[in-house]
Amino acid sequence: MAAHREKKSEERNHKSAQNGAQAPQAQWGRACSVLDYREVDWFSLASILFLLAFAPLIVYYFIMSCDQYQCSLTDPLINLLMGNKHLSDIWNKTPSLTYTAAGIYAAWVAFQVILYVFVPDFCHKFLPGYVGGVQEGAVTPAGVVNKYEINGLQAWIITHVLWFANAYYFHYFSPTIIFDNWIPLLWCANILGYVVSTFAMIKGYFFPTNAKDCKFTGNFFYDYMMGIEFNPRIGKWFDFKLFFNGRPGIVAWTLINLSYAAKQQELYGHVTNSMILVNVLQGIYVLDYFWNEAWYLKTIDICHDHFGWYLGWGDCVWLPYLYTLQGLYLVYHPVQLCTANAIGILALGLVGYYIFRMTNHQKDLFRRTNGNCKIWGKKPDYIECSYMSVDGTKYYSKLLTSGFWGWARHFNYTGDLMGSLAYCLTCGFEHILPYFYIVYMTILLTHRCIRDEHRCYSKYGKDWKRYTAAVPYRLIPGLF
Ligand code: NDP
Repeated sequence: MAAHREKKSEERNHKSAQNGAQAPQAQWGRACSVLDYREVDWFSLASILFLLAFAPLIVYYFIMSCDQYQCSLTDPLINLLMGNKHLSDIWNKTPSLTYTAAGIYAAWVAFQVILYVFVPDFCHKFLPGYVGGVQEGAVTPAGVVNKYEINGLQAWIITHVLWFANAYYFHYFSPTIIFDNWIPLLWCANILGYVVSTFAMIKGYFFPTNAKDCKFTGNFFYDYMMGIEFNPRIGKWFDFKLFFNGRPGIVAWTLINLSYAAKQQELYGHVTNSMILVNVLQGIYVLDYFWNEAWYLKTIDICHDHFGWYLGWGDCVWLPYLYTLQGLYLVYHPVQLCTANAIGILALGLVGYYIFRMTNHQKDLFRRTNGNCKIWGKKPDYIECSYMSVDGTKYYSKLLTSGFWGWARHFNYTGDLMGSLAYCLTCGFEHILPYFYIVYMTILLTHRCIRDEHRCYSKYGKDWKRYTAAVPYRLIPGLF
């Protein structure tokens, strides 16, 4: 009965979205009117101002410390504090923007735009189980269902085939090209990040794709950082969130690592097992993203976050520069792991990946089949829940309490964190720089977990409380 009502209400919602009519704006949605100033509390504002001011400096500091101080995070500070160096000394030694880097970066982004907009997906036609081509996203708070061309896997494959063809056959450019231009490319990435975020803000005010899905808090910094438009687009298909979320940042991730491996080969005549591990483990993670790109349309980044500096600049600069620190570190410190350590790290990375993937898969299967599936060989347990939209329509849903979802409320994050730790461990214990990733991911995912639960509580109310009573831990059973 509940399932029938759920289906009916979903059908109704979907239908109105397709017709372009207004579906009810849900209470849990982030869209609100120009007059709504409530959301920006002092803590959010302070965090935003801190990040706007310091995030670009943090990225610069990490990359500069590798370039000038062999990846020591403390030496530059000690030098400055002891008066051995001045800020101007460090700055003057920093490579500036070059025409070469600008050319490489422009060609790179243009190539990814062409692959995204002009090459419809063909992978789904011959790869069994792969979901690509035109797919629908979730219903937005204004009741719109966007269509997306899912062709990220294809873009990744084409880009990497060309990369290897060049490295082994054409030799148009050196595979170390990314490493060799790393700091000049940082300036280009920053320029794009700021241009895109600023454009998105102006667009949100003057020509939004969907005015009903815009959110203005009245606070300039908050709006700039967290975004105004929910799904800014140019034309029918160029979706800012999907493009910048996945490409150029995530396609570049594996290329950047390959460039680091090539640099090790050039400098030391061999590639270390730690570098191979980083390439393999992060490669699996990146491929997983593209294999499941259609599924990512239903994750928090796409379903709930608006597009501002946080996503625009973050995808252009933060992601490619800080998610790849292990490979960069290994160019300066070519760690060769003993076999036992290499196997242990590989096992940790693979188990983490398995948990991450299986947890996400269990929820996806459960939701897709409306609970008519098997989790670990049994019919799943769940909690029936309901939520209300502003027009008073009641909707029904279910919260899974079997499988990994019975162990903790976000065991997918736990698996992700295990994988992240494995990347860092490849670098040994000489410096803290490569461990930035696990610290950052722990903060990101814990904050995300709390943010998501807050949203779920406001959506499901007492049903969410029943769920948290049934599954009391967030990330680690028995601990947190
Ligand atoms: P989830 O995939 O965990 O989705 C959370 C949503 O799932 C909730 O809002 C709720 O939505 C629904 N939900 C919660 N509990 C249940 C349950 N028991 N049964 C059924 N549905 C439930 O979160 P994310 O979108 O944040 O993450 C997706 C993946 O991406 C994760 O594996 C994460 O590790 C990874 N990730 C990686 C990042 C990186 O930088 N490397 C950054 C962010 C994420 P509803 O309203 O539908 O009920």
